[in-house]
Amino acid sequence: MDAPRNADSFPFPPDLARLKVIETWCAVLLDAVRRQIADLEHREQITQAGAAGPPPVPVAEWRIQYGIGAKHSAMLVHTGDCSLISGRTRAATRDQARDALRHPQVEACGICAAERELGLTEP
Ligand SMILES: [Zn+2]
Repeated sequence: MDAPRNADSFPFPPDLARLKVIETWCAVLLDAVRRQIADLEHREQITQAGAAGPPPVPVAEWRIQYGIGAKHSAMLVHTGDCSLISGRTRAATRDQARDALRHPQVEACGICAAERELGLTEP
């Protein structure tokens, strides 16, 4: 004979062992649903980020131009928007640009007045 049921326990079995199995199954199912939700939310964020286009490329404030010889040593320092920037330049921070100009072989570009922009000469 079955144990008596009340309205709150229907349709669950009345015994503890089967209720524990159902409880475990619900926990597993809830975990799986939450992982699926997190996965879909992550995919949605990626889609939205992609729709906005690639992140803007930061404009380099300074560019250091390197030579074409075997040493590829630094030669010129330019401002980031100098019209003489070529493919042989690399982005540099303000400190890197100032440090480069401490080397005797490195000069500041006269076109963009990099030395003045770096505050190394009087305006
Ligand atoms: Zn320049």
